[in-house]
Amino acid sequence: MLAQDPGPGGLAVSALTKRFGKTVAIDHLDFDISTGQILALLGPNGAGKTTTLMCLAGLIRPDAGLITWRGVQLGSNRGRQMALITETPEVYEMLTVWEHMVFVGRSCRLPEGWQGRAEQLLNRLGMEDERDTLGEALSKGMRQRVLIAATLLAATPVLLLDEPMIGLDPRGQRELRNLLLEVRDQGVTVVVSTHLLANVQEFCDRMLILNKGRAVAAGGLQEMLDRYGHKTLEETFLDIVR
Ligand code: ATP
Repeated sequence: MLAQDPGPGGLAVSALTKRFGKTVAIDHLDFDISTGQILALLGPNGAGKTTTLMCLAGLIRPDAGLITWRGVQLGSNRGRQMALITETPEVYEMLTVWEHMVFVGRSCRLPEGWQGRAEQLLNRLGMEDERDTLGEALSKGMRQRVLIAATLLAATPVLLLDEPMIGLDPRGQRELRNLLLEVRDQGVTVVVSTHLLANVQEFCDRMLILNKGRAVAAGGLQEMLDRYGHKTLEETFLDIVR
């Protein structure tokens, strides 16, 4: 569906289908994304964005379709390749913020020196004063920040984010945007679902618009504006999902 062929190096989704009873949440979805790009998943409520991310992360099993990363079909070991930050940030209630980082450092067997990176991430996300705070005492936005820091620390080559800006204050949104651009420039592939069309302009390389479980448009921002003849992404989006 995307104009640019990801070649063997990217993430490719082919004929992905997921039904919940009679509801077809995603319907023969095809798309691909090159290594080191940020893809925005857009679409109205119920379009299938979360279901797509959950299938990519292996948290729900699709009814049909194929997901490949660097030309290899993803199996149950995909945790080493991709991490998902879900819409509702869940943390361990009885672990402190720093213990979340330790958990990632040890369970992912990160190379020596991960502590410095963990501290840097917490500082960037304004969590330096919360190092010893238990998960149960964190606000929703703080939980989101801990998950972002822990996920970036794990340094998987693919990062999946479901509505990551929701719940973050303006400083948090700016830091997340900058962090995503930095990891993108280091070669991480990012898929991010969002309703905030400004996000596409600010940090996404390409977009995929879903409607009723199907891919209805894809491309870069200027390409989409030119193709549909509108001046703004909002007009373009509303035209496409009308
Ligand atoms: P939103 O923007 O509102 O978050 P979305 O694009 O993420 O929506 P999904 O959550 O993927 O959409 O839902 C796609 C469709 O699948 C919807 O019709 C939804 O009702 C349905 N659906 C999702 N999860 C389930 C479930 N666990 N059981 C039944 N139906 C589901």
